[in-house]
Amino acid sequence: MRKPFIIANWKMNKNVHESVAFVKAIKEKLPTNKEIGIAAQAVSLYNMKEVAGNSNLQIIAQNASAELEGPYTGEISMRSLADAGVTYVMLGHLERRRLFNESNDAINQKVLAALQVGIIPIICTDEEMVQTEVNGKIHYVFQQLRSVLKGVPANKLSQVVISYEPSWAVGSSHQANPDVAEEGCQAIRQSLVEMYGNKIGDSIRILYGGSVNPDNIYKIMSKPNVDGALIGRASLDIESFLQMVNCV
Ligand code: PGA
Repeated sequence: MRKPFIIANWKMNKNVHESVAFVKAIKEKLPTNKEIGIAAQAVSLYNMKEVAGNSNLQIIAQNASAELEGPYTGEISMRSLADAGVTYVMLGHLERRRLFNESNDAINQKVLAALQVGIIPIICTDEEMVQTEVNGKIHYVFQQLRSVLKGVPANKLSQVVISYEPSWAVGSSHQANPDVAEEGCQAIRQSLVEMYGNKIGDSIRILYGGSVNPDNIYKIMSKPNVDGALIGRASLDIESFLQMVNCV
């Protein structure tokens, strides 16, 4: 059974005090039939974890360095994140790829570093409309997954979470379409089955991200290959976030 996972991706919003206040307000109101997490700015993570304590809230980093320590001024290491109580790190988000030129190879190095220190990577895969049309979804997703998962042994893969985020639906006014979400998540699962076999492919959680909100989350989460959601804008408001984590 794949436990549903709902993640707020706050991006570069909410300062430390706002982040802590949000956690305080929701931590006793979270359902236990799902895993729930918030990906916040690195500077807030330690304080958020202190407040979250043993509640059903995972504290998630939005990025980290592939290097574990050393002369890398301005970078944030996975070792420090683990020490701060961070359990997951989001890697390869569309905005990292687009705005900071992160390549599949760079993301792959970060995935390996996370696994080395016991932080679970949430690996984001994206897709442009044109790539879907030219290459076909499965081919494109397969190439991307093969690169970012290079060198990840099968016994570590069960700890990885994958997300599918069509670029045209992230941060846009585009309506999230449950059928597109299912198609993408299914293509990812099929690729994982081809790479690692049925047992592993069936056990990995695959999330959908892109314009998810309280009105559409139920239909999206009802799709058989969608195990959760990665939510940007609609996760910033407490009421809207609680509505979504309680959607099923
Ligand atoms: P959005 O962002 O929900 O605002 O479209 C999703 C994401 O970036 O993960």
